[in-house]
Amino acid sequence: MNITVGEKIKLLAGDDFWAGVNNVFTDFEGDLAIKFSSRIGNKTRRGRKAVGYAYRPVDKNKNKYTVTVWPEYKNKRGALLHELAHILTYVKNGTQVKGHGKEFYQNFRELFYLLGELLFDECEFFIANTCFSLNKNYKFFNLCLSASDCNDLKDKDKKFLFKLSAGEEFGYKNKSYKLYKKDPMYYLCKRKNGFGYVKINKFIKVDVYE
Ligand SMILES: [Zn+2]
Repeated sequence: MNITVGEKIKLLAGDDFWAGVNNVFTDFEGDLAIKFSSRIGNKTRRGRKAVGYAYRPVDKNKNKYTVTVWPEYKNKRGALLHELAHILTYVKNGTQVKGHGKEFYQNFRELFYLLGELLFDECEFFIANTCFSLNKNYKFFNLCLSASDCNDLKDKDKKFLFKLSAGEEFGYKNKSYKLYKKDPMYYLCKRKNGFGYVKINKFIKVDVYE
């Protein structure tokens, strides 16, 4: 996919984010334009504010997709990720699947695993909202994310596993581990005084030792 990103939004999400997005969409055909739109955000649909839109081509041969997000929304990257998951669903699963159905969540999960950690630092709001709603729909988050995680981000004794480097030690469920290797979704960890390795979801919160 040929992706063009508006200047302001490009700066906001950062180079790492866009490199990741390009990787995800590279094998698909078409043009994708991503930009801010001040025309959305104050519209009410079913009692909620729309903060972003993903448009697919009306004419199948044109292959031009658009994502717009509202510049005033607090969690712009979260909105971006959500709308990009819609585009990914259009190109992978077609237009016959439900807007926020199983396929959408699978694609959201894929994007989240690749890019989610880039959103965390400023996105307590994202965790409280987007992930919490994901948790209800799709159980994979029940290990790690809930609305209370906003407080844990400020708790010095806890860190998300993805924040650690290989070789660092951490506690999880009263057991001690050492981070061995970072894979995209699960990190390979070695139990202290134990045998073999275990795969642990990189978005869990762990105890950190001083
Ligand atoms: Zn949506």
